[in-house]
Formats: sequence, C-alpha cells, structure tokens
Amino acid sequence: MPSSFRPHIPELMMASGPCSIYPRVLEAMGWQMVHHRTDDFVDLMRSVSDDLSKLFKTANRVLPVEGESILGLEMAACNLVEPGDVCVNLASGYYGAGYAKVLRGYGAEVVDVTVPYDTSVSIEQVRLALDRHPETKVLAFVHSETPSASENPMESICRECRERGVLTIVDSVSGVGGSPVRFDEWGCDVVVTGTQKCLGSTPGMSLVALSDRAWERAARVMKDTGRYERSYLSFLPWRQWVDRDYVPYTPPISAIYGLKAALDIIDDEGGVDDVVRRHERCARAMRAGVRAMGLELWVDADEHMANSVTAIRLPEDVDDAQLRGIMDSRYGLHVSGGLGEEAGRLIRVGHMGYTASAQKVVSALTVLGAAMIDLDHPVDVTAAVAAANAAVSAVE
Ligand SMILES: *Cc1c(COP(=O)(O)O)cnc(C)c1O
Repeated sequence: MPSSFRPHIPELMMASGPCSIYPRVLEAMGWQMVHHRTDDFVDLMRSVSDDLSKLFKTANRVLPVEGESILGLEMAACNLVEPGDVCVNLASGYYGAGYAKVLRGYGAEVVDVTVPYDTSVSIEQVRLALDRHPETKVLAFVHSETPSASENPMESICRECRERGVLTIVDSVSGVGGSPVRFDEWGCDVVVTGTQKCLGSTPGMSLVALSDRAWERAARVMKDTGRYERSYLSFLPWRQWVDRDYVPYTPPISAIYGLKAALDIIDDEGGVDDVVRRHERCARAMRAGVRAMGLELWVDADEHMANSVTAIRLPEDVDDAQLRGIMDSRYGLHVSGGLGEEAGRLIRVGHMGYTASAQKVVSALTVLGAAMIDLDHPVDVTAAVAAANAAVSAVE
C-alpha cells in the first residue's frame, strides 16, 4: 500500500452528480473545526437555516440531516407511512421506481403509476390514480429524474394533492436550486434535496423541508406504529432544532461550512430565482447544441426535460464506454452513462451548481464533438457552438 492515496480526479466532472464543486465551497470545507455547541456555530447554523428556508421558499425550518439524500427520502417514508396506508408512487425513472420498495418496506399498499423512462407523468394520470384510490394517504414522486434527465410537473402535482388532502413526498435531489420549487405556495409536504447536485457542494447531506401537516403526521405515525422515536430516521429529535436551536446530533461541520459557502453563492447571484434561470439557460444551450450537432436527446419533449442534466441518445455505431473513456482520458471531462435499462444507450451531462455555466456547457459540447470525431462519427461542432451561443445570449 502506498502511504498516500490520490484517486484520478478529472479536470472537470459534469456527471449526473456529484459534479465538480464551486472553488469557494472547496476552500470553506478545508477550514479547521469549531465546536458545534459554541455560539459561533449555532449562529452559523441559524444563518444556514434562514438561507435554506429562502431556497425552498418556506416559512418552516429545513432540516440539515447528515447522510446522503437517500437517508432523507427513507426518513420521509418511515415518518409518514403506516402499515396499510395507500400510497400512490409515480415512477418515471430509476429513483421513482425504487421508492416503491421503500414505501412497501414501511407497510404501504403501493399504487404504481409508471410511464416509460423517456417522458414524465402527466397531471391527468395523477388525477386518475387519485380518483381511483380516494383513500390515498401519501403520493410520492421524483421531481427531476436524474438517471434519464426528465422532470415531473411538481407544481401541479403538489397543488392537486394538497386540494385532496393527500400528503406529498418529493425527491427533488437534483431539482432544488435548478428548477423552481415553491414549498409553501404549492402546498408541498416533504421535499428532500441533496447538497451535491444543483447546490454545487459535496455529497453527504440531506436537506429536508417539512410542512406542518407532515410534522403532525410524523408525530402520530411514530406513536401509532411504535417505531423507535430516537432512531436516526425519526424526524422527532429534530424538533429540538426547530423549537430551540439545539441540533440533536454532531453536525458534519465541514459539510456545513461548504453548504454555507454554496448558499452564499446563491445569495450573491441575486437569489435562487436567478440561479434557477442560470440552470434553465444552460439546459437550453446544452439541448440546442446537441441537436445542432446532429445528435438526439433521450427525453421525448422539451417540456419534460430536466434543467440539471441532459441525456443524449447514442448513435448505434458509438460505444458508450469508449466514448466516455475518450472524453475523460483525452479531454479531461467526466460524464455519466445510462443506468439500468439505459446502460449503453445514452450519456448524461450534468449542468448543475458549479457546472451550470455557459463556459462549461460549451466545453462539454466541444469535447463530446471531438470524441465523436475521434470515433469516426463526425458531428457538426461549429453548429453546436453557434446554437449554444444563441441559447445563452437569448433575452428572456
Ligand atoms: C442523486 C439523486 C439521489 C441520491 O442522492 P444521494 O445523495 O446519492 O443519496 C436520489 N434521487 C435523485 C433524483 C438523485 O438525483
């Protein structure tokens, strides 16, 4: 064993997440520890908390939970679902489909609404499922399906559910910060995001927004089911943070430094709406560039496409592993392949957080073009750059 270890770190990572992070976040994460029971740290946590409420557009406190986003998503099921509860689960991709198993694990009777993984679920399909199952307690869905780069209509789904008294669990891990989210206005109940996608920080934290209805239900479900209330999965210990500024566990201090730096970047840019617009612009530029190059997008229609990642259908004669290998080894750009059924059929380029930048989108297009040319599949790189240029400079 060598005495030191350094992995191959790509010059630029535009994967489906994590991606290369903001240099300012990287720097903050190298700071020395401050004790978490000091006034300074509690002040920092309060300021992170205020920023998170602005990010989700909620008056409630958002929980900064240590543990990758999957933890926040499992917490939602553990605290909101009782055995026998009817839960509608929308599956328009890999994460949506996987969540049905989590819900079943907590005893839910799951009603699956499944669509092909190159499109999104329509509000009509949601209404139909809820009409057929008026006893539904919870509806779960993924806002932005990162593995296939599609996006579900979060606003209309949350509004519909609120009107019917159905609680929503939303996996917005790659949505918050990249696509609009208005937690209170849309009547959402639980929205989970991660720090490593559109926020441009590192993986390892779940940010969980809860409505008052979700808090009430969590208290009841934990009591009725006899689930271990002090479990790390329980929302209830977090009341100490919400009610009296006392964090229940040792927070991941370096990750909190990084998160604060990421939230400051949003603030400096003018707020989350401006950051979302940057993500939209980059997504439009990426799509326009891919099309102009002569390649096809994976998702069936622009209005179903995510802002944080673009999936590109691979031509028959191009091998996925070879293409990504050349992009990385020759040009220093790491992108993602497809997952599950989509493996080998597409590549995905993440434009989220730090990588949601015109400069990086244009480099990704040119690197992709160069690698395609290397593989004897010529594409029109000049047209791609011109199309991306037009999309980033278009007045909104
Ligand atoms: C990245 C991602 C996750 C998983 O997040 P982790 O932090 O890796 O647990 C879940 N859902 C979606 C939609 C994602 O993009």
